[in-house]
Order: sequence, then structure tokens, then C-alpha cells
Amino acid sequence: MLELEGQLPNQEDSKGNVYSSLSLKSLPSYANGQWFTAQADFRTVYHAVTGEPVYQVSSHGLDMQAVVNHAKKQGSKIASWTFHERANALKQVAQYLLERKEEFYELAKATGCTRKDAWIDIEGGIGTLFAYSSIVRRELSNETALVEDSWIPLSKHGTFGAKHILTSKAGVAVHINAFNFPIWGMLEKIAPTLLAGVPCIVKPATEGSEMTQAVVKHIVESGFLPEGSLQLICGQIYDLFDYLGPQDTVTFTGSASTGQKLRAHPRFNQYSIAFTMEADSVNSAILTPDANEETIDLFVREVFREMTSKTGQKCTAIRRAFVPESLLATVQEKLIVKLKKVVVGNPELENVTMGALASIKQKYDVAEKVELLNKDAEIVLGSHLRHDFTVEGTDSEKGAFYPPTLLVCHKPTEAEYIHQVEAFGPVSTLMPYQDLNQLAALVALGEGSLVASVVRNTNQNIEQLIANIAPWHGRLHILDAQNAKESTGHGSPLPHLVHGGPGRAGGGEELGGLRAVKHYMQRTAIQGSPNVITQIGHSWTAGSDYFEDRVHPFKKSFDELRIGERLLTARRTVTEADIVNFGCLSGDHFYAHMDKIGAEDSFFGERVAHGYFIVSAAAGLFVDAAPGPVIANYGMDNLRFVEPVKIGDTIQVELTCKQKTPKPQKDPEQKPHGVVVWDIKVKNQRNELVATYDILTLVERE
Ligand code: NAP
Repeated sequence: MLELEGQLPNQEDSKGNVYSSLSLKSLPSYANGQWFTAQADFRTVYHAVTGEPVYQVSSHGLDMQAVVNHAKKQGSKIASWTFHERANALKQVAQYLLERKEEFYELAKATGCTRKDAWIDIEGGIGTLFAYSSIVRRELSNETALVEDSWIPLSKHGTFGAKHILTSKAGVAVHINAFNFPIWGMLEKIAPTLLAGVPCIVKPATEGSEMTQAVVKHIVESGFLPEGSLQLICGQIYDLFDYLGPQDTVTFTGSASTGQKLRAHPRFNQYSIAFTMEADSVNSAILTPDANEETIDLFVREVFREMTSKTGQKCTAIRRAFVPESLLATVQEKLIVKLKKVVVGNPELENVTMGALASIKQKYDVAEKVELLNKDAEIVLGSHLRHDFTVEGTDSEKGAFYPPTLLVCHKPTEAEYIHQVEAFGPVSTLMPYQDLNQLAALVALGEGSLVASVVRNTNQNIEQLIANIAPWHGRLHILDAQNAKESTGHGSPLPHLVHGGPGRAGGGEELGGLRAVKHYMQRTAIQGSPNVITQIGHSWTAGSDYFEDRVHPFKKSFDELRIGERLLTARRTVTEADIVNFGCLSGDHFYAHMDKIGAEDSFFGERVAHGYFIVSAAAGLFVDAAPGPVIANYGMDNLRFVEPVKIGDTIQVELTCKQKTPKPQKDPEQKPHGVVVWDIKVKNQRNELVATYDILTLVERE
């Protein structure tokens, strides 16, 4: 952990960080609605390839209390936007950034990565914005609060019940990010935060902060987000935590030691401030026992990719590679052949396949960690020395280069460091295992990881292995010949899937679709009468008041319809002819409908109508056949057949307007419309519910 405060200008610390007074470009922060440039306490960032100073960073003098207040006063406007308005703004931001991506690629050069590596950060980050925007537009209604479940009855006569709702926390989310993904690291966190209606303060790692800052600059210029909903602190956060309160959230990505120190801030304990941490993770890859040639090659490909992509500086990178003892020599040989072909050097050269680490500090750090790993394992390729390898197109002494380094640990059960220490560079350790029980125990020695890959023969059953290792991971990637071409790979966190892991990995959870959005919202159980739950959730709840009109609801436009508007249909008696005709029409001759003798021995004791007939007959009762504003029926949710309908029973339908969601008009040629959800209840002559479901229709607007 770096102690940044109290450093004198031009002083170098033990890890090579220089606190400089050089006349360099200073990176301003964006806070309190303006760009702020500090005057002192600078830290210099050096070009990862050439070692030249590039810019300096400081937030000295920034009033952190004002930053927090600005977010809460101005930025909180985003909470008044609906989910769809937030999602649309995010999509516009993503489009705006995509059009300017080359600027970010240019800046990425100073961080030592190849264009392919930078793609993960830049376009992977922008893609996460697009994906989140679309998840929210698809899965949430156009409201400011999220109703989580349907009516939970709490009384005998249905006048008292509950629903859980989620509302935007009335605070700010502070995101402290690591150096390895300056753009994706910010965007993957601000997307769910802003969608939840919560303003953010982002503090990027000093290394790479120029890229984060460029993105924030464009987001601010774009004007798509409310002022104050995104602030940026380039430099230290000083006393910012002292101003956080009970509605605030902090996320952290970086080293476990920093994370643990920050998490111990007394304010977090005092106000139960949610602190999500993602830290050093000693992730695994496993080759299963009956691996064939193809499986071995897949395994080697994956380990190789994770060692070299982003110069091994990915939080998900494979640090421990477990192989059956009998295959150790084969895997080692194949991996070395591939790793020897890696061309390390200036990533601007076309033949270079692996660039530099992010900084000289990282180079020292990786070397120190490899020295520790070397106490348990033999180095079979690469080095813990820093200069004895070839670097293309630049001076290896000045840049933050490190060779691909493979270790082999023959006695992993006795190892002290292999399962604990993460060398955050192109470094991985191969180790043998005897059987699946020992393997699961070895994996668990990592004390919790973000991800593991299991590479198996397509038909091998690995259910027990998964059951044993799943509790130690946030994600498991199972690779085999069937999915090899399409797999997104071990190292890619995806917006739809959970990213995080237990124990050493920090205990946090990011991404995972709506799960991440909910992290920034407060869940509240609302108890009350059906009427109040309908009012609060903007969705009709059974037992609430309803309205009847002489005009059929299918004759009304989206805007005319009111939530709670109901149609009680005519009745229909179900006859044997109905059942026989439906059986013939559909081809469904199931004995419970068509076989008198079989049906007598059945659960129902006599023939009953097809459930699908009841749904069809219900439509026949509630539909208004003439052309009108209803464009189409596009789905049905939550269908339950509650009671059987027997020959001679009489059914009737209650159709109630439950929820309305306007749809954005993508095509000007298209008529404006919205989705109307109708609550359908089919009852029999004893007023018993026989079927219940929701239907979804597209209805024209005025
Ligand atoms: P770090 O030193 O823990 O820094 C992480 C973040 O915390 C940076 O933004 C850093 O800002 C900030 N920070 C440091 N001290 C702070 C303090 N006292 N108060 C508030 N913020 C503070 O980690 P790193 O140097 O970026 O990476 C070190 C190691 O972390 C790596 O070698 C790797 O093992 C691990 N790592 C893990 C992941 C993961 O996702 N699992 C990702 C990246 C790194 P400054 O940069 O301004 O100091």
C-alpha cells in the first residue's frame, strides 16, 4: 500500500513512485460542476513503454465534503428519472463514447498494452453500457421504483398483504478502481449505479487515470446525464469517507491490503455503509482426469491466453493451473512451446504480441511476488529477474516489461505461497493433482476466487466436482469441445453474469444483470391494503378497486385506459362437445380429457376440459373482435390452472388492466404504442378461480 500523503516533491519511494514538481500536464478532477486542477502533492505517471513522465495527478485542495454534497443535491436528480429514461441516457452516452474511441486507444499506448488488450478495456467498457441499458429497458417497467414480487397475502379476507419494493438510495456511490482497466473498471460500476438512480463519485487508480478522465470529459460534454451524477477525483480521496452517511455505498477494486484498510474506516461501521470489495484472487484452471488431446489443447490455449492477455494484469487471470499428475509433463511442454513464441515489446510494433505492465512499480511488485512463488515452485520459463529477456523495439530497462513466467509446483499440498500470492503479471503455476477430492481441497486453498475454468471431455460428468468447488467461486467456466468455438473465455466478466468472489476475492458481487442495479437500491417490504399497494406499485393488485365502463377496454387507446379498468364477460357452459372438438382440433387426446374410463381412475375422477381450451375460451369471452387500438397479443405470463373445469361447468372471465408501459418510438413510420398487461381471472359457477394469468398486448397511443 502506498502512503501518498506527506511525500515531498521529487522524492522516490521504495516502489519507484516519484512525487514530482516537474512541469507536466496535470490531470484535473471533475467535481462540484467544474474542472479542478490541484497545485501540490502531485504523483507522476510514467509511460509504461518508454519510461518517460507523461502527466501528474493530484486532488490536493479539493473540498471533499462539497463533492459529496454536490452529488446528493444536484446528482440525485437522476433518481427522479424513470428506469427507461436512465437507460436511454446511458445508451446515448455509450454511442457518444464509441464515436470517440480512437482517442482512448491513443491514450492506452502509455499504459503499455496492445490494441487487442485495450479493446477489452475500451470497447468492453462501452459494450457494458449498451448491455446494461438494454437489460433495464427489457426487464424493468418505466417507473422509478422496482416492485419485486406479486401480492403476498397476509390476511384471511385479502384486505391486508405486502410487496417488496426497491427505491434509489438517497446517497452517493463512491467507486475506487484499480489501474488495470481504467475505462471498463469505471463503466461497469457506474452503469448499474446510474440505472439505480444513484449519483457516483469515481476515483480511478493514479496509473491509467488519464484514460478514465478522457471518458468522463466526454460524458460531461455530452450532457446526457444530470450534472452531479458523475464526479471524478484524480488523485487521493483524502477525508472523503468522513462525509459519507447511511445511504451511501463504496466499491473498491485493487489489492486486498488497501481494501481491508479502507473497509476498516469507522464511518462504515457507524452507518452500515455497504462496502463491496474485489481484490487479489488466485484463480484456477482445471484439466479433468480423462483429458484427451483436444481437451489438453483447449486447456493450454486458455492458460496461455490468460497469462499473456493484458500482460496477465486481469483480475480474472489464471494463476493456478491444475492438471492430472500423468499429464503434467505434456501440458508443461505444450505451454512452453506457445509461451516461447510470445514477442514482448513496444505494442506499437506489429509483431509484438505482449506489451508492458502498467508501471515500473508493477514490474517490481510482480518480481517480488514471483520470488515468493519460487519458494514453492520451480521456474520453468521466464524469470523473477527483470532484465534477462528480449524486448522488441524499446529499451527493456526503461519500460515496465516482464517475460511470460511459468512455474511448476510438484507438491501443491505443501505449498505456502502458491495458493495465497497473486503475481499480477504474465505469471502462472502448473501443479499436479492425484484425484478429484485432492483437487477440490487444493482449489479451496485459494480461499475464494473470482473464477475457475474446468476443461473437460464433452461427456465427462463433473457434477460432483462443480458441487465441491462452486462455493469458492463467483463464476465457473466449463470449457469443452462443444462450446470451445463460442465460449467467451475464462477471463471475460460479462454484464449478465456475476463478477466477484468469496473470501480472498473480496466477498463482493458486481454485474450479474439486475442484481448489480439492486445493490444501489433499498429493498422495503410495503404492507397494506390492495389499494395502497396498487397506488405505490402502479400495478393493479387483486382485491383493489376496479372500474367498469360501457365501452369495451379493447376499444380504448393506451392513454385512455386506466389501471384497474375491468371487464366482466358473459358466461359460457363447457360441454362434452367442446372437449371433443378441442381434442380433435389440437390433436391433444390425453386420457384425462378424452377417455371416460381412464379419467374415472385419474386424479380428477372424471373427464375435465383441456387447460388450453379454458385459455382459448377465455379469449373468446373477453376479446372485442372489431379492428381497434389493440395491435397484437404478444405473450402470456404466470399461467396457473387452479381448479379443473368439468363437463357442465360454467366459466366467466374478469379482465383487468394491470400495468401500462409506453414503448419508445424507434421508427417514425410506426404508430406510437405501449404494452398493456391485463390480469385475467377465469372463475366457475361457484366463483372459484379455475385459471389465472397475465396477458400482454400492444396498444396504440393517441
Ligand atoms: P491498490 O494500491 O490497492 O489501489 C487500488 C485503488 O485504491 C487505486 O485507485 C488506489 O489509488 C486506491 N488507493 C490506494 N490507497 C488508498 C487510500 N489510502 N485511500 C483511498 N484509495 C486508495 O492496488 P493497485 O496498485 O491498483 O494494484 C495492486 C494489486 O491489486 C495488484 O498487484 C493485484 O494483485 C491487485 N488487483 C486486483 C484486481 C482485482 O480486480 N481483483 C484488480 C487490480 C489489481 P492510487 O492508484 O491513486 O494509489
